[in-house]
Amino acid sequence: MPYKFTFDISKTPHHFFTELAMVVYKSGMHKVFLKTVQDIIRKFRIQETTGLNLQDAVVLIQDLIDMQALNLMQRQKFLQTKKRALFLPHCSRKYMDSRCKAVFETSLPSYVCAHCSPDCGVNKADRIAREKGYDVYVLPGGSCLPNILKAKKYEGVVGVACGEEVKLSCELLSSMSVARQSVPLLKNGCANTVFNMETLIKTL
Ligand code: SF4
Ligand code: SF4
Repeated sequence: MPYKFTFDISKTPHHFFTELAMVVYKSGMHKVFLKTVQDIIRKFRIQETTGLNLQDAVVLIQDLIDMQALNLMQRQKFLQTKKRALFLPHCSRKYMDSRCKAVFETSLPSYVCAHCSPDCGVNKADRIAREKGYDVYVLPGGSCLPNILKAKKYEGVVGVACGEEVKLSCELLSSMSVARQSVPLLKNGCANTVFNMETLIKTL
């Protein structure tokens, strides 16, 4: 399910993400105060650069913090897993039309990247993850997850998605005791979305 707003924080300075990590670390897994979230929004001029109103900016930053906290909490468990999968969102493909040569395999169900464009984020992520021994899925939505998880019984998964999708998948993954790590989209909009490749590589 998409956010009701669009955002692009892909050009936000790198120390923004370091600051989020520090906030998570200092909070010791406790809920971060609204004032802290508002301070981050002000400091990094999130409203000015994204055009979001304060309420939506709070939702966005709070979700990024929650994702980081969950990643930290799950990291050790995740590192002990052997059978892993990477879930990529179809919205990060270079093309959303017939120029994308990925084939949707209903038996999986997932797109299978045909590696048609060297500068496609999904292509790069797919290659890197497979080299590391991951199975890779490119999903049109979170509704594909339950069937894949039930059939394949992965111990650990890495998911690239916007905060809304990550929240929706959390309950399912918890109920199946699957260790997970999330990499947030830095630009949403359900097409031409962006994630940070270095963050993904570190997470894998
Ligand atoms: S931005 Fe991508 S991951 Fe988020 S809801 Fe839209 S299609 Fe799904
Ligand atoms: S590289 Fe893969 S995901 Fe990207 S546009 Fe081509 S087939 Fe689609």
